[in-house]
Amino acid sequence: MHIGIIGAGAAGVSLLDALAQKVDQTTAGSVVVVEGAASLWRGRAYQPDLDAVRVNAPPVLMSVRHQDPQHYQRWLGERDGYVDRLLGVPIVPRAVYGEYLQATAETAVCRLRDHGWRVEVIEDWATSALPLRTAGGVTRPVDQVVVSVGGGRPIDHYGLAGSPGFVQDPYPLATTLAGIGTGSQVAVIGSGLTAVDIVAGLVASGHNGPITMLSRRGVLPEVQQRPVQFEFRHLSRETLPSTFSGLVSLLEAELAEYGQKLAPLVQEVLAREDPVERLRRQLDEVDGPHLGRRMLTAAIHRLGAAAWHRLLPGDREFLFTEHFRTINSLASPMVPLNAEIVLRSIDSGQLRLAGGLRSIEAAAGGFRIVGTDVLRADVVVNAVNPPVHAIPGETAALVRSLLASGAVSSPPSGGLSARTGQVHLLGGIAADNSFVTPSLMSVAAAAHAIADRLPA
Ligand SMILES: Cc1cc2nc3c(=O)[nH]c(=O)nc-3n(C[C@H](O)[C@H](O)[C@H](O)COP(=O)(O)OP(=O)(O)OC[C@H]3O[C@@H](n4cnc5c(N)ncnc54)[C@H](O)[C@@H]3O)c2cc1C
Repeated sequence: MHIGIIGAGAAGVSLLDALAQKVDQTTAGSVVVVEGAASLWRGRAYQPDLDAVRVNAPPVLMSVRHQDPQHYQRWLGERDGYVDRLLGVPIVPRAVYGEYLQATAETAVCRLRDHGWRVEVIEDWATSALPLRTAGGVTRPVDQVVVSVGGGRPIDHYGLAGSPGFVQDPYPLATTLAGIGTGSQVAVIGSGLTAVDIVAGLVASGHNGPITMLSRRGVLPEVQQRPVQFEFRHLSRETLPSTFSGLVSLLEAELAEYGQKLAPLVQEVLAREDPVERLRRQLDEVDGPHLGRRMLTAAIHRLGAAAWHRLLPGDREFLFTEHFRTINSLASPMVPLNAEIVLRSIDSGQLRLAGGLRSIEAAAGGFRIVGTDVLRADVVVNAVNPPVHAIPGETAALVRSLLASGAVSSPPSGGLSARTGQVHLLGGIAADNSFVTPSLMSVAAAAHAIADRLPA
């Protein structure tokens, strides 16, 4: 069998590793990996960057090997440090996690080759999948292709591209923040995890000028809680209901197993609190005993995509329009380490949150920002993440060719759906996902399932 893997970020590595784990049950074939960017095996998120740019999940949730959740933790065992004081587990720089991805990919390549597989890595952009073609004119015949091309780039909502002082794509921060004067006024568009990364990066780089996080609602991500062991006894793929209220009842039953009530979770989700007071309170409750938020986060990652597709259209619409931000924030809470940096910066007066953002314009030597107040900034850094199903610009030609061949379709809900057994979509591009960015845990589960579906 000839397999193509387009895109060698975490998802591509997970798939390659899953293939290497199965060599004893398969006949040797060939694998061609195509990666267009310079960040082979690391993807967009885990390239070399500042130490302040950290992963956002504990080691047990970051294994790329679905059937071995301790895989990353064992690799990490050889390295000391980076323990998040409040979480009590290592939260490493994303570049260190990139080393894990690279080591895993290289081991997988060796294992496949040792078992007679031919493995080729082509560093170029794929423009077609069946046959596999690249922009540079390389063609390889493949029987099966896995498309793991990641998500899009930050969106330029305010048409600022090309304006001096505007940073459209913040990563790697080591490069983009290096050009910012330490005393300059910086405005960050967004207040989600990317915006938090930027604040942490600026603080770590010795920035002493004012920083403003701009957003429409002026809210911050939730703060992650210390991991606690629990098992789901009611929520499972088989029991997923078609209504939101059915999901809530299952969660209530899970909490009851541990003698806890649903009310504190409902209160937490619906509370209209001052964002800074909420941040302070959640930092105080990192060790809190209530399992509600922890269970909800785990449920979103383990069962979110399946639950989303089981829901009735009206319930999906309700969740998407009413709770988009809350669900995303619960799915990817910020690590306490970063929450402390944000709070310290707010308390010292260096960082402020500005809500009601309406417009940003380039204006003489800087930017004019209109929100609840009118502000100015020397530099504007974009932290507006694209929707989960966004197609990366470099992938447009590939997607056009897949659609033209009829191998995939593009449902109105976004992303792509495979229409033949030869094409497999992995990561954000797959229409199977909900509107939540797939975590490594869910990507690894999907990679494992695809490797199992590939003919032996
Ligand atoms: C900044 C950031 C931080 C994150 N941090 C975490 C975290 O700490 N923990 C967690 O669980 N999840 C995290 N996530 C979510 C998720 O785990 C990551 O996005 C994950 O790395 C996704 O991997 P991927 O391989 O799908 O995408 P990517 O990492 O984007 O990799 C896709 C690769 O495909 C390549 N590609 C695209 N088109 C083509 C083409 N036509 N031809 C050839 N190559 C192509 C790209 O160059 C890229 O290298 C984070 C996401 C982001 C964006």
